Amino acid sequence: MTPADTTEFRNQLRGELIEPADERYETERRVYNAMIDRKPRMIVRCADVADVIAAVHFAQKQKLQVSIRSGGHNAGGLGVWDDSLVIDLSPIKFVHVNPVTSRVRIGAGCTWGDVDHAMHVFGLAVPSGIVSSTGVGGLTLGGGIGHLTRKFGLTIDSLLAADVVLADGSFMVASADQNSDLFWAIRGGGGNFGVVTSFLFQAHPVQMVCAGPMVWPLDEAADVMKWYREFIVDAPEDLNGFFAFLTVPPAPPFPEELHFKKMCGIVWCYTGPLEQANRLLEPARAHRKPAFEFFAPMPFPTVQSMFDGLYPSGLQWYWKADFVDQLSDEAIALHVKHGSQLPTLHSTMHLYPINGAAHRVTDTDTPWNHRTATWSEVIVGVDPDPANADHVTAWARNYWKALHPFGSGGAYVNFMMDDEGEQRIRDTYGENYNRLAAVKAKYDPGNFFRVNQNILPKASD
Ligand SMILES: Cc1cc2nc3c(=O)[nH]c(=O)nc-3n(C[C@H](O)[C@H](O)[C@H](O)COP(=O)(O)OP(=O)(O)OC[C@H]3O[C@@H](n4cnc5c(N)ncnc54)[C@H](O)[C@@H]3O)c2cc1C
Repeated sequence: MTPADTTEFRNQLRGELIEPADERYETERRVYNAMIDRKPRMIVRCADVADVIAAVHFAQKQKLQVSIRSGGHNAGGLGVWDDSLVIDLSPIKFVHVNPVTSRVRIGAGCTWGDVDHAMHVFGLAVPSGIVSSTGVGGLTLGGGIGHLTRKFGLTIDSLLAADVVLADGSFMVASADQNSDLFWAIRGGGGNFGVVTSFLFQAHPVQMVCAGPMVWPLDEAADVMKWYREFIVDAPEDLNGFFAFLTVPPAPPFPEELHFKKMCGIVWCYTGPLEQANRLLEPARAHRKPAFEFFAPMPFPTVQSMFDGLYPSGLQWYWKADFVDQLSDEAIALHVKHGSQLPTLHSTMHLYPINGAAHRVTDTDTPWNHRTATWSEVIVGVDPDPANADHVTAWARNYWKALHPFGSGGAYVNFMMDDEGEQRIRDTYGENYNRLAAVKAKYDPGNFFRVNQNILPKASD
């Protein structure tokens, strides 16, 4: 690559091209997880689809590896790769809401906070995750689990269409009617098939919710988990609740006497009639009185950003995950053992329900296999101090190793680092893997997009 090649590329762009010599290179190469420290060759901050097309052509011509970044939240930092051209979509930020059809078109550079802000005024929401700084791009393409999963399904279940730039630089719309094989593949197959520049979603009527945590002492954790495993399966779909081991943060609304205490908890979010919300949680209170609860009416964007302050960008993260069908007494005992040993304030274990509406889509309707699992489990070792990186990693790995035999095979791709290996990806997609490989062979036969939980191209026999 000559300087003239780079200049020619730069001149094609409406956005910026950032190289290692540029002052902003150090900040622009960073991702949310500070455990990741990669040095790309260049970062192209795409202003529009034309910039994305130019970037793909340039990378192909120069034989450069590409990585794709939307929100930069990926666990394994797959938005940035060493020596690659980073296709940074974060400047493509717009949210166009059609209040008549309740459809919303979202630019790939948006975070879910951007989306919630623009939609809330219309009393609408799209199912997403639990932290508002997460990118729409990566979360959606991997599936999307969050506070609205039991009510409206995974994020991909509300996706209607996407604009995609393919490996040869061509542009395609993927929907149920146009390029339906590509549309199937991107609903869970991650960034394997192209660069998605915008998403069209069907939004849902959600404005005020009742939400917040209940916490119990650790010596009641086994009992609470046993109650929770029965309750959440049959609870009304308006009610979502994920189980957690946590250290109580030293901040309101938690009372001072609980600050820094290791506890277990359930974080609820109820989208039904507010007057019924408290009645629904009476069984939880009756079973074991929580040491503290904060369950109150709030705007949906408030619950979506409830954890933002605790988890700013720049912490050290190590993730391990599994899908779980059944929570046996034996598994619960191991959860309590390892969950009681949370190594730091920020480290946690979450069990996200993926039942309710998420179960009404079959395992093969989208690539997102394991629809029949009941939970997506994630164990995250987190701390601000890089000196603790090995410590939190070892805890997460040990916890996961103990619980993995109780998993149902595979894990949510968005909760994986970059160290899981090919078999793990195959287990995750199960019977859908070969179909994904065939779609990959059609749209990206050279595996140009391979900085992801990679699906190897293979034409069907
Ligand atoms: C604090 C935190 C909380 C989280 N909570 C949840 C949660 O509640 N629910 C949940 O489901 N997940 C959650 N996640 C996981 C999250 O879904 C993944 O980390 C996801 O990859 C983040 O998307 P992003 O756009 O921010 O990531 P990026 O790092 O920007 O991208 C990740 C990867 O996705 C692909 N990709 C991203 N955008 C595009 C695009 N436009 N076109 C093609 N490929 C693309 C690329 O392969 C890229 O490498 C959480 C992550 C964090 C760090």
